[in-house]
Amino acid sequence: MRKTIIAGNWKMNTTADEASKLATEIKARLTGFNHAELLICPPYINLAQVSKVVNKSVIKIGGQNLYYEQSGAFTGEISGQMLKSVGCDYVIVGHSERRALFGETDELINRKLKAALDSELIPILCIGEQLEDREAGLTEKVLEKQLDGSLKEFPTDWMEKIVVAYEPVWAIGTGKTATPEQAEEVHRFIRDKLSQEFGGTVAEGLTILYGGSVKPDNSDSLFAEENIDGFLIGGASLKAESFERIAHSASKES
Ligand code: PEP
Repeated sequence: MRKTIIAGNWKMNTTADEASKLATEIKARLTGFNHAELLICPPYINLAQVSKVVNKSVIKIGGQNLYYEQSGAFTGEISGQMLKSVGCDYVIVGHSERRALFGETDELINRKLKAALDSELIPILCIGEQLEDREAGLTEKVLEKQLDGSLKEFPTDWMEKIVVAYEPVWAIGTGKTATPEQAEEVHRFIRDKLSQEFGGTVAEGLTILYGGSVKPDNSDSLFAEENIDGFLIGGASLKAESFERIAHSASKES
């Protein structure tokens, strides 16, 4: 059975007070929610306090990134074991903003995925094409390269412990969402490709999230697609009400 996940990526938003307030409101609105795994990913500096806020609730927390070493002279970096120690269960790896603004390569992302698994975190591997790639008909090629590089030397049992998020870069923070058909086509492609490499059982069990301007008014139709198993939400996760409304897409019959 694939797990449904509704995840919020707060990015570089929220001061300490704002983070506690937002987490408190999300927790209150979603008490007892059991239609999906609920995950919030605040900035590193707010993780410990948000962890206390959501303790013993249905809300899980995750990091937005990690470094591949566990400790040492790596000024400014955070390791998997540090994330785990403040209560994280998940970590986002290879977000398009990390790739585009901080030069993350598939090779680096591969090391980070392995480090996350070593720390018993569930990594959410982000992949997605740029607008030029899509317009040039290169979407599948780009995704294939990202998957091959990021998942290099991955044994099958590791694949059972990760989540993939398809996030077309042209849809992130732009208000332009992929149509449900466009997203479904790519999710199917990802599942088929991984099925060829890791087998049908692993691929069918893999949770594949969609991300890119998910809002309460488009989440129902996206979630209704067979291969969309939840969302990675940026902007709309910063308002408790919209996060709650999007989460409720997972509670509706499709
Ligand atoms: C994201 O940050 O992963 C994202 C999808 O952002 P937004 O929902 O704002 O497009």
